[in-house]
Amino acid sequence: MSNSAYDAIIIGAGIGGLVCGCYLAKAGMKVLICEQHNKPGGYCTSFKRQGFTFDAAAHAIGGYCKGYIKKIFQDLDLDIKLQKIDPSDIIILPDKRQVAFWSSLERTIIEFQSLFSDEVENIKKFFDFLASSNTNTLISLRNKTFLTLLNSYFKNDDLKNVISFPLLGNSSLPPSQLSAFMGVKIFQEFLLDGGYYTQAGFIQNFTDHLVKKFHHFKGELRLSTKVKQIKIIKGVAAGVILENGEYLIAKHIISNCDATQTFLKLISSKNLPETFFYKLKKMVPSSSGFMAYVGLKEDFFTSYNSKFLQGSNIWVMRQKNIEEAYKNFKNQLINPCGYVVHISKKNKTLFAFMNYPYRKKIYWKKNKYNILSVFLKEIEQDLFPNFADYIVYKDAATPHTLKRFTSNYKGATFGWASSPSQLIDPDFHRPNFIQNFYLVGHWSTYGIGIPGVAYVAYATAHLILRRRVNDR
Ligand SMILES: Cc1cc2nc3c(=O)[nH]c(=O)nc-3n(C[C@H](O)[C@H](O)[C@H](O)COP(=O)(O)OP(=O)(O)OC[C@H]3O[C@@H](n4cnc5c(N)ncnc54)[C@H](O)[C@@H]3O)c2cc1C
Repeated sequence: MSNSAYDAIIIGAGIGGLVCGCYLAKAGMKVLICEQHNKPGGYCTSFKRQGFTFDAAAHAIGGYCKGYIKKIFQDLDLDIKLQKIDPSDIIILPDKRQVAFWSSLERTIIEFQSLFSDEVENIKKFFDFLASSNTNTLISLRNKTFLTLLNSYFKNDDLKNVISFPLLGNSSLPPSQLSAFMGVKIFQEFLLDGGYYTQAGFIQNFTDHLVKKFHHFKGELRLSTKVKQIKIIKGVAAGVILENGEYLIAKHIISNCDATQTFLKLISSKNLPETFFYKLKKMVPSSSGFMAYVGLKEDFFTSYNSKFLQGSNIWVMRQKNIEEAYKNFKNQLINPCGYVVHISKKNKTLFAFMNYPYRKKIYWKKNKYNILSVFLKEIEQDLFPNFADYIVYKDAATPHTLKRFTSNYKGATFGWASSPSQLIDPDFHRPNFIQNFYLVGHWSTYGIGIPGVAYVAYATAHLILRRRVNDR
């Protein structure tokens, strides 16, 4: 047994764990973060292959101007420059027309109005509502679906599908299943105030700055350190046991990792109330994804004089009715709904992503490179003729890869699926059946994506610090 007791131990160095750790350490707490991987960041890591730097999963930071991210940058004095890509996102409709999300809301509204002239007034009202709503107003939407919200503004089904398409990629749910609350949050944080990138050009830079600050505040980060068990003594989280058997004691235990692993493996079902256990068993994760990483020849950037090269997310919609396409994704190699592409001029790379169901390792052994090759042909056909001629390096990551590197349940891209019934549940954030224990991150049901998890981490740290003051 270790003699050193911590004020807080955080399991996982994703953005949730790092932001929470920074605030606690900044307040003078003795904080340890244990990360199983040999690099911090979780879904916010980058890697190098053949001289190219790729973001493994997340690449854009949203909610910087209007969300909590700016406050977090200021509070933690993060010395990191972000640049905004404008437009942050471009949608290519099945009939090849395009619509973009610009920094200027007016410009975005005009583009949508010019495509859907039958809904001019409603488009204005809808975007004004999105731009002006705060969390308190949004709480009233908690039990509604995003489709119900869309139906209250629009009649045109094509327009509803176009608006919902980037949300499908950013939540993995179609409008009939996505909570209106989360749909609006994603819209605000990813699309209306989205598209921020580190000037260094890769997301690991953001993670590394958080790590630097955490160290600056005297926090301790142990990499390649997997937590095997959370020790519960008489209903109180008392410490963690590492894979090497070491037992570390702390006053507060915070899990930044997957909720299924946290409750069933680390805490164990014997420490859970029966009602919670059955609730957990019924929870549905968000879908996983298939990713293509491509290193490009220099002349790719001179051969295509296109706005697609500027770094916006390019959403290629393959079907008009995404709800139907979503239901029908069974045996096809490529997701019939569509995909998103992001190009980094600085790194000479292309990243492409499509939602994909979790399947066993054996499936990927057989199909991974076949899917990659069909996926790249689609991109060639839809966006860049003769694309294959410019490829220097290519590889892919599957749902299995996401799970292997981060232990996210079924390789889920955004924690639990953000349906109305799976949202804002304190049992997944600060369960009252285990004292001194908290979850931060995208399994906590309070927020997804970088802005969402950063906010949950910020709020959790403040909750712990308030409790510390009250305990004195
Ligand atoms: C392909 C893809 C693209 C995305 N793109 C974006 C984007 O552009 N912008 C955006 O805002 N969001 C994006 N997201 C979503 C976003 O990345 C996540 O919602 C967010 O990063 C999750 O952060 P987190 O802190 O909850 O946890 P994670 O990033 O999942 O980190 C959890 C950490 O816990 C560690 N861990 C797990 N188990 C243990 C254990 N037993 N012991 C020790 N450590 C453990 C893991 O190794 C990991 O480092 C994307 C997601 C995916 C998959």
